Amino acid sequence: MTQYKYFLPEKDMPTHWYNILPDMKTPPPPYRHPITLELMTPADLATVFPQALIEQESSQERWIEIPDEVRDALKMWRPSPLYRAARWEKALDTPAKIYYKWEGVSPPGSHKPNTAIAQCYYAKQEGVKGLATETGAGQWGSALSFATQLFGLEIKVFMVRISYDQKPYRRIAMETWGGNVVPSPSPETNAGRAILEANPHTSGSLGMAISEAIEYAVTREGWKYALGSVVNFVMLHQTVIGLEARKQMEMADAYPDILIGCVGGGSNFAGLFLPFVKDKISGAKSDMRVINVESTACPSLTRGKYAYDWGDTAKTGPVAKMHTVGHDFVPAPVHAGGLRYHGMSPIICRLMEDGYVEARAYHQNEIFEAAHSFARSEGFIVAPETAHALQAVREEALACKESGEEKTILFNCSGHGHFDLASYDAYHRQELQDYDLEDEKIQQSLKRLPNIPV
Ligand SMILES: *Cc1c(COP(=O)(O)O)cnc(C)c1O
Repeated sequence: MTQYKYFLPEKDMPTHWYNILPDMKTPPPPYRHPITLELMTPADLATVFPQALIEQESSQERWIEIPDEVRDALKMWRPSPLYRAARWEKALDTPAKIYYKWEGVSPPGSHKPNTAIAQCYYAKQEGVKGLATETGAGQWGSALSFATQLFGLEIKVFMVRISYDQKPYRRIAMETWGGNVVPSPSPETNAGRAILEANPHTSGSLGMAISEAIEYAVTREGWKYALGSVVNFVMLHQTVIGLEARKQMEMADAYPDILIGCVGGGSNFAGLFLPFVKDKISGAKSDMRVINVESTACPSLTRGKYAYDWGDTAKTGPVAKMHTVGHDFVPAPVHAGGLRYHGMSPIICRLMEDGYVEARAYHQNEIFEAAHSFARSEGFIVAPETAHALQAVREEALACKESGEEKTILFNCSGHGHFDLASYDAYHRQELQDYDLEDEKIQQSLKRLPNIPV
């Protein structure tokens, strides 16, 4: 009999997060100040983030204890199941063994609450009253709205105007959890008012929303800002995914030859692969491959430059060394909103420079085709972001069919697509466009990277 699912009991949920920093051959270089471009001090970060998170950001402790209250909240849906995609293997007619970690079981439907809960816990501990954040399509705003309510915090979500108007369902979900959602640009901040004055009918952007959220937080007593990806402490919180997966793969008597995940800022995939890639760094599993999958619309790892750049379009946040297509690069309007970020986790970028991980990019029609193939075998309708991982899995599985190799593939299934059905509809109507991104466009925005003295 085929075993389809591997469940960990609640008592086997990880007690510590895994911090990759002390195990990296080369650590990611430190952040720089958005205005002076000098090295950033912890005090610079303290106006924006809770203290505990700033310490985690550059911690050299390999294992960091997960506070009991955080574990308790995570247990609402964790440990998440590990699946064997036996039916998909059959449909693909591949000798490969395919496993996936299913993060769509969280109440908001993705991996994002793994860090939202930790961030809310530390904020509450430090006497913070409320958290401000930005959201595009609403995945991160949903996770944070849900998590703030578990810890009795207020929340303000600046939602990009066009998503606010076109995608009301995530806004309604956020409001149901208690989120206070406003379309950005809004008249509630100086940044928003200035943008509205110059351009009253703008559809907004993530960069504008970030500026508003940071301003809202730093100008209010007792308020901080929350960030859903990219920075080291978010990667740390997401390692519960990979730590659980290691135990579940042991239950299946398996170890991955290939790890695959989609990357926007990198957090869901880093969460899965960091607890495995340490075996590659140590040399114990030197043949293991780690494949980061991005959108061709925003190809920071595959076509960007490894350089210092601002983390946000408005140049208000830290300057980080990462693969970037430029902080004011405007990607084509692909449906995988979570993969439209111009930069990438500095940890993933450093690992790629050192040759431990690789990257590839796909167009949207091929990823929706993979999502349909998966839905028709495994049943789950995944987020368009997640579908990028599926396409890479499919390619690797078909390569195994070609070569006859029985490789073991493990991928992260980052979230469900129940709020993204309009994009599935567009695919059914053959209305999805594949955009060919001209090199000239990337080169133009790379001209505006900060000039960091060596
Ligand atoms: C936000 C999101 C992503 C992209 O963010 P990462 O930080 O790269 O994980 C991927 N999948 C889903 C379902 C998301 O909500």
